[in-house]
Order: sequence, then structure tokens, then C-alpha cells
Amino acid sequence: MQALVLTAPNEFSIQDIPEPSDLEPEEVICKVDTTFICGTDPHIIAGDFPGFWPKSFPFVPGHEWSGTVVETGTRAASLGWKEGDRVCAISHCGCGVCRNCMTGRYNLCLNYGYEDRGHRQYGHYTPGAYAELMKTSIKSVYQIPDDMDLEYSACVDPLSIALYTVKRSRLKPGEDILILGSGPQGLMALLCAKALGAGRIIMAGGGERLSKAEELGAITINYRETDVVKRVMELTNGLGAPRVLECAGTVDSIRQACLAASKGGVVSVIGIPHEDPLIPMKRVVLDEVEIIGDRANPNTAEEALSLLAADRVDLHPLMTHRFPLAEFGIALDIFNKRQDGAIKVAIKP
Ligand SMILES: [Zn+2]
Ligand SMILES: [Zn+2]
Repeated sequence: MQALVLTAPNEFSIQDIPEPSDLEPEEVICKVDTTFICGTDPHIIAGDFPGFWPKSFPFVPGHEWSGTVVETGTRAASLGWKEGDRVCAISHCGCGVCRNCMTGRYNLCLNYGYEDRGHRQYGHYTPGAYAELMKTSIKSVYQIPDDMDLEYSACVDPLSIALYTVKRSRLKPGEDILILGSGPQGLMALLCAKALGAGRIIMAGGGERLSKAEELGAITINYRETDVVKRVMELTNGLGAPRVLECAGTVDSIRQACLAASKGGVVSVIGIPHEDPLIPMKRVVLDEVEIIGDRANPNTAEEALSLLAADRVDLHPLMTHRFPLAEFGIALDIFNKRQDGAIKVAIKP
């Protein structure tokens, strides 16, 4: 089959590789329809996580995908999975038996990274979906409604991360929310916050993507031109935002998030900065600002699918580009340079 194969940091090509085999009882093999480029992919490709994502080369990345089941393992079949099932996927697959998995926190699996103990993270250290065929545990795939197209459903992975970020902020209907970062995750968080009944949505970001945020109903702040914290204080009568989502992942934005939160506010963080930021601890302690880290999307994919199926969230404005697998290099370049308003870029293996 054709697949995108990473052979070293920043070295990749489309190659013919063996089809997946050795199906385990709880696995299925799917024909991949669509794999979206995730913001993490360029970092995996650049070798920013040496020995971790991936552990070694050659490696096939890709984790925001959808497809159709073509082969089922024995237990998957007993559980009702069959050829022709249309699915979308998430990257995490907990071992299923450790304390964290047993209590629903499989994103924090205690056997993370040990394939022999049943853990997987597809497209990160387990082979991923920039390929014609994808072998996956049924723990990491979800049936999609008959009337939803496969390409659309491939965004469930990032959308369910955005949903988790909003839920972790404990947003209550009508409350104002501040989102830092107008990239794909920030924009999806905006859509989720709206669906969950946020009051005003304030988004700090830059470039064309900030105009998109405005189109989607946010009050926008261009962080290059405006003091973000000052502007948030003006907009909130000096109180700050009760819910803050940090989706930018820079040293400045995390600091701004802590300073722009209201007394007793919550900062829900998915951005990962290269260096640890200076946290304004006086503010955090004396005003009880809670900082909450969010990893991936535990138990939110089905909810994200429901939001899409019911049209509470419409992702079409964010789906900007589509390329065949053979043109992955061009697609990655357009994604990285945010050319032509690129937000979510689809690859068709
Ligand atoms: Zn991702
Ligand atoms: Zn586990």
C-alpha cells in the first residue's frame, strides 16, 4: 500500500509498504478515506520529540482520520463490528486495565508507550493513517451516522480535544470565555464554547484566522497590535474572564491567560510551549486562578460526533484544503505557512 513514510527528521516520501497484518482480536483494519493534518504533525515530522514521537524510523504518522472497516478481529466481530462500518478515530488507545484506564482517564494510561502492555497512540508512536490502510483498536474508533460524510467526520479527533478543553474550564451557560490562539484548536474551541452556551467569546490571535474567528461570532483581539490583558479587562469591566482557554502554547500566552482570568477563574490549557513560562504565582494563589492541563480527548469523541450530527457545530468554514497523499509535501507546506487561509487541510490516501 501507499503510505507517507518518515525516515528521519524532516525526511519523508510516499512509499509502497506492506499492508497491515497480524490482526489482534480487538482490532480492525480500515480503508482510510481522509486524514487531516494536525498541528502536532509538523513537530513529529521535524523530529521535535526525539525517541518519543516517533520512537524510531521508519514511521507512518497521521491521526485525525476516518475510513471504512475492511477486516475485523475476532472479538471486534463478536462485538458487532463488520466490514463496511464507517468510522472516525482518535489517537489514544489506553491499555484498558490500569487504574487510570479503569477510571476513564485512558489519556493518562499508566502503561503509556508500552505496546506489549496494550497501549497505543496512533500516528505518534504507533503507525498512523497517512496510508491507504490503517490497523486500529476498536477502542479508538467510533461509528459515524449514515448521513455524515467520511471526510467531515475525520475532524472528530481535534474537535473532541477542543470540546474537552471547554468542558475542563467548567464553562456555565452565559459566562464569558476568553480563548488565546486562533489556530485550528482555538477556532474549534470557539465553536464548542458557542455550542455549550458561552456568553461573549473573546478571542486573541492574529492573521487571517482571527478574521475567521470574527466571522464565527467572537470579539477579537489582535495580539500583535493590542495589549491582550488590558483589552480583556476593558471588555469585562476590570473583572477578567471567568473561563480562559489557552490554545496558543507560547510563553506569553500562558502568562496572559493567568493575568486575564477573573478572580476564581479557570485557565484550561492545551498549548504546550517550548520553554516553561513564568507563571504569575501571586495572581494564581491570591486570586485562586485555577490552571488545568488538558491532554487529548478522553470520552468526548461521541459527544463531538453528536454536536456535528445535530449541526450544533459546523466545521465547514474551517475545512479549507484537500490534497491526494502523493502531494503531502505541498499540503504540509501550505499548512505550515497558513497559505490561502489554510486551517484544516485534508489528505486523501
Ligand atoms: Zn491531533
Ligand atoms: Zn491503561
